[in-house]
Amino acid sequence: MKQSYRQIVDEIRENRDLTKEQLICLLGTEDTDGVEYLRGQAREIAQKIYGKQVFIRGLIEFTNYCKNDCYYCGIRRSNRKAERYRLTQEQILDCCATGYELGFRTFVLQGGEDAYFTDARICGMIRAIKERYPDCAITLSIGERERESYQAYYDAGADRYLLRHETADETHYGILHPPELSLKNRKRCLYDLKEIGFQTGCGFMVGSPGQTADTLYEDLQLIRELKPQMVGIGPFLPQKDTPFGQKEAGTLAMTLRLLAIIRMLHPPVLLPATTALGTIHPKGRELGILSGANVVMPNLSPVDVREKYKLYDNKICTGDEAAECRCCTERRMNRIGYAVAIARGDCRDCLQYDA
Ligand code: SAM
Repeated sequence: MKQSYRQIVDEIRENRDLTKEQLICLLGTEDTDGVEYLRGQAREIAQKIYGKQVFIRGLIEFTNYCKNDCYYCGIRRSNRKAERYRLTQEQILDCCATGYELGFRTFVLQGGEDAYFTDARICGMIRAIKERYPDCAITLSIGERERESYQAYYDAGADRYLLRHETADETHYGILHPPELSLKNRKRCLYDLKEIGFQTGCGFMVGSPGQTADTLYEDLQLIRELKPQMVGIGPFLPQKDTPFGQKEAGTLAMTLRLLAIIRMLHPPVLLPATTALGTIHPKGRELGILSGANVVMPNLSPVDVREKYKLYDNKICTGDEAAECRCCTERRMNRIGYAVAIARGDCRDCLQYDA
């Protein structure tokens, strides 16, 4: 007998697993009541574990130099139009000082794969931040490095590491990346990070060129297997100076459904409603939270470099000071009945709850 949409949702919630057929049904349906049910269930799970609160992370985009040439990304090395910049340690510490005043207790240091930032420089930066703000968590998002480097960052005091796997399907990985990059190494990095003890995040773009229900199914199975503490997903958005500049963007609807599904498959996950989601729809981040997300990452980067960290076109908030972004986030979350937490916002241990 064919299952109803609600029955599928209930079964996934119960089993924390799904079949490919169920995924195809969840993503392809036009049953709007069913989708509301899916989002409501995901929201309920998130609230049971984390309450009606949203964690904020102060995002510092500290370099847009990158040695990689990913076909989708606006800061890829072949994009001659990207105006390159890197922040000094002092500038980064200034961002943290502003962020701390504004109530941020996690700083996310994100950048391209920039050889200037050697292990010694990264470790120095981590130590300097931790010395000033021992009550804050540091998240790194600086791409693929050797295990020894990850270990050094961890030993220096970094707490979390975000490295989207981008796609768990080999062929799809080859569509998105040049041949010198491999899914095998990306996964090796993720497992190393997890073993070392980082709270680790994987993730992918929704609607990236070549993505299918099959590749998404593999993404979800990787999440089930890796059990990351964080998963970052957001719509793919074209950037005009990249090989994918003319490709279609991912959609709001698909991203919201996938956020909800991920919350059901892996309840304790820290799940951001991303800037890309806020870029495709004015209420994208609020809708993300109402679909089971529980993190937002306002920008702490100096305003004069914001425009230059252009992974995709039309990125929001590029002209707003950190304080404006912080207030705007709080207002937006309050309007949907959520509070912004002034806390590190670590992942609740899988054993501490029964969702
Ligand atoms: N270099 C680090 C890395 O590889 O993880 C971090 C920076 S990278 C720019 C951060 C993320 O931006 C990528 O993992 C990718 O998923 C996302 N991204 C890049 N280009 C994008 C685009 N055109 N649309 C949406 N997201 C994009």
